[in-house]
Amino acid sequence: MHKSLLFSISVLCASTGWAQAPAAQSKLSVHWEELTAADFTGAIARAQGTCLLPFGVMEKHGPHLPLGNDLLNVRYVALNAAQQEYAVVFPEYYFGQIFEAKHQPGTVSYSRRLQLDLLQETTDEMARNGCKKIIIVNGHGGNNSLLPYFAQTQLDTPHDYVVYVAGIMRSAQGEPKHKSDPATDMHAGESETSMSMIARPDLVHLDRAPQESGADRARVHLPEGVYTGIWWYARFPNHYAGEGAVASRELGEFEARAWITGIVQTIRAVKADRESLRLQNEFYERSRHPLETPQ
Ligand SMILES: [Zn+2]
Repeated sequence: MHKSLLFSISVLCASTGWAQAPAAQSKLSVHWEELTAADFTGAIARAQGTCLLPFGVMEKHGPHLPLGNDLLNVRYVALNAAQQEYAVVFPEYYFGQIFEAKHQPGTVSYSRRLQLDLLQETTDEMARNGCKKIIIVNGHGGNNSLLPYFAQTQLDTPHDYVVYVAGIMRSAQGEPKHKSDPATDMHAGESETSMSMIARPDLVHLDRAPQESGADRARVHLPEGVYTGIWWYARFPNHYAGEGAVASRELGEFEARAWITGIVQTIRAVKADRESLRLQNEFYERSRHPLETPQ
């Protein structure tokens, strides 16, 4: 009895071992942190050195959405896209620009210097591990100035990799009609809340959305084209812009599909891009001795 039980256990182990090994090899995870060191090498090769850095933040999202809303949504679309067009996805990253929400509970706001240093060291480390094409997938509107600036600063000193920035791509042609004014639907409003209803419906408290006003208070008046940092607080002191209560799964499904499609197309275009790195190298070389640059 005892012997036959041992025999059946060893047969069972052997058979599951045989059954699982080929499956595990053929299906490489897109999650950086889920790969073994050996599988990571294969994953980078399969991705052709293309990696995603989904970029969220920790901040209030009106009275009805979670603090990590941008991180949860951007990872949802980035992971789905990478499964369609293979790329390695970096772990959770939420160290962006969010000074304007420091007056609200739960906001995690790093200094300007640390934001740039951490992002540079992160992309440097990604590149050292074979990610020669890094797509920063932005999920947070407060990063809209930071990320192109970071990409521009890559020209300062030579790098053997290229940084691409993909903006938020929730809207597209043919989207369902919105119920609220798109001009002020900017943060935790109809559009973003609809997207969250797809990515993490369990964290959306739609009934709480009307508890605060997401209306534009319009308290500073300056000519168009003049920027000042307090503009957001002047308009939306509750850190809520729009009407989350009118969100719908129908709009969310459209937005999720549009965003995933946009990232898939971005991954394909980046994989096909042979020019950016070549031109970067030419530029770095000429930058070393500008007087020799042909005029
Ligand atoms: Zn958000």
